[in-house]
Amino acid sequence: MYEHDVIVVGAGGAGLRAAIAAHEEGADVALVSKLHPVRSHTGAAEGGINAALRQGDSWEDHAYDTMKGSDYLGDAPAIETLCQDSPEETIQLEHWGMAFSREEDGRVSQRPFGGLSFPRTTYAGAETGHHLLHTMYQQVVKRGIQVYDEWYVSRLAVTNHDDTEERECHGVVAYDIKSGNVEGFVARNGVILTTGGLGQVYDHTTNAVANTGDGAAMAYRAGVPLEDMEFIQFHPTTLPSTGVLISEGVRGEGGILYNNEGERFMFEHGYANNVGELASRDVVARAELTEVNEGRGIEDEYVHLDMRHLGEERIIDRLENILHLAEDFEGVNALEEPMPVKPGQHYAMGGVETDENGETCISGLYAAGECACVSVHGANRLGGNALPELIVFGARAGRHAAGADFGPAKITTGKTADTELGEVETPVEPGAVDAGDGDAVADGSGTALVDPTQTVESALEAERARVEHLLEKDEGVQQAELRAKLQRSMTQNVNVFRNEEGLEQALRDIREVREEYQDVYVNDPSRTYNTDLIQTIEMRNLLDLAEAITLGALARDEFRGAHWREAHQERKDEQWLKHTLLSWNDGTPELWFKPVILEGEEKEYEPKIRSY
Ligand SMILES: Cc1cc2nc3c(=O)[nH]c(=O)nc-3n(C[C@H](O)[C@H](O)[C@H](O)COP(=O)(O)OP(=O)(O)OC[C@H]3O[C@@H](n4cnc5c(N)ncnc54)[C@H](O)[C@@H]3O)c2cc1C
Repeated sequence: MYEHDVIVVGAGGAGLRAAIAAHEEGADVALVSKLHPVRSHTGAAEGGINAALRQGDSWEDHAYDTMKGSDYLGDAPAIETLCQDSPEETIQLEHWGMAFSREEDGRVSQRPFGGLSFPRTTYAGAETGHHLLHTMYQQVVKRGIQVYDEWYVSRLAVTNHDDTEERECHGVVAYDIKSGNVEGFVARNGVILTTGGLGQVYDHTTNAVANTGDGAAMAYRAGVPLEDMEFIQFHPTTLPSTGVLISEGVRGEGGILYNNEGERFMFEHGYANNVGELASRDVVARAELTEVNEGRGIEDEYVHLDMRHLGEERIIDRLENILHLAEDFEGVNALEEPMPVKPGQHYAMGGVETDENGETCISGLYAAGECACVSVHGANRLGGNALPELIVFGARAGRHAAGADFGPAKITTGKTADTELGEVETPVEPGAVDAGDGDAVADGSGTALVDPTQTVESALEAERARVEHLLEKDEGVQQAELRAKLQRSMTQNVNVFRNEEGLEQALRDIREVREEYQDVYVNDPSRTYNTDLIQTIEMRNLLDLAEAITLGALARDEFRGAHWREAHQERKDEQWLKHTLLSWNDGTPELWFKPVILEGEEKEYEPKIRSY
């Protein structure tokens, strides 16, 4: 058994920042990660980090843009914290040695990004995330923070009080990918989940194969609600053959979108008369698909993104990486031809419900980064707002878990007097087929577990039994087949354009895959680097998250931000200025709502029509 004050699960941007902050607060910290830190998906971030750094800009303007971008579903205390703290956190990165792109006069460069009223996106070429990860990993190494890399966390050690909000998290159980050993980790102060996105729920995504939403799924099953899961961002510029991202930085620098008639459709078809290609992502993604659906797409599938007019010098200076991506994945020389692009799954706005200190309703359990929903992005994230979220809320969660006192949080978690219970009609029973399997609560026996070590030991025993069961079973269905089925259905039915029949079909498909998963087996019996075993465990997480996304989407019968419903073409503020929450509820998902907080420090944000 290993023991530390603070255990950070995940070593991407949020995890590294949380670990540094907890360490600076005096805690003995461990980072436990299934990937080596610099292989985390933050390394794929291209475009930049939003921070109001320049004269003429202000955190208030950044907050206004973010609230508008969120389609008035972001919580003001979270948005204002993000925008107030982002400049300081960005400057901290620069002081740690991050190689930001610079102007001739030496100042850090900033570029325009979609939905921003000021060019406030700082960047390091088109490899911002790569530099961010390396900069922070160096700080982790310098401080001697213990890193357990290639350890897969598969279960949270949480007490089993009937009332989930009385539960406590005392650690995690992890599988050492190199040796095949399953071990317990006791966290004296707290566990911080920073496990990133869930893009593998879909088959066309900018996310890596490791982005399977593990932390969100484990927290959900342990009793923490998932918030606003229906809001999935589909990025307008992904390469059709692979889903690889072409950064918004291309449009930020002046890249233009064309349909098959050579029309600059963002203007010519009136999708965004003021800012065209720099409208927010949901608007551009819908515009592209409308062009394709109305016969103006290229090969009935994509549109063109052209940056040739920017000139070779500027492209090489600011977007060189894009040239390589277009060449390597599509065989296109973007200095001489336009790039094919179409929308693809990119980001989960929803996630583990937290307050602005990263705390969940389970004592000792925190979340930050893409796996969390604090909520700054609401119904639609603005490009360049995820990286500041990692460093701002990663740092806060790290400090808080290590014992810093921020005073009472403004955002509530768990059920309160404001809670409204919900109901959604589903064509099949959602939730677990066998509630025992994969349950994150340490012990289903009903005996109250309070002792931290005993809680971790009990979770460890359950996890060892699960791994043995999966390895010993020698026939059944393989996870890859189930994963493909799930991804196909989600891409077909819970995409940019959604309707009731499609969402119901997705729930039926998820149910079918859940039932088949009961018979899943691992083909590779080895103990070392058994990726089949890991992916089989991840598959269970994908199922629970896909269902949460679809249940949220079915419940929300309005059109807000990234969530478009065919039969509900307006934003319904009287009814829907509220967050959707789903509790696992021992395997029978429960839907409930809490109001959005539009009251900021000094002003109330008033929902307006969102046009660009
Ligand atoms: C291609 C691309 C480009 C982007 N560009 C930008 C941009 O320019 N600006 C911007 O603001 N945002 C951008 N985003 C979004 C942003 O990069 C991500 O939201 C963010 O990097 C996620 O960081 P994270 O720390 O939450 O997770 P990640 O960086 O994905 O890290 C997750 C960590 O958790 C670990 N982990 C996961 N599961 C487990 C488990 N079960 N056990 C142990 N460890 C686990 C992984 O090993 C990893 O270390 C981009 C996203 C993509 C996909």
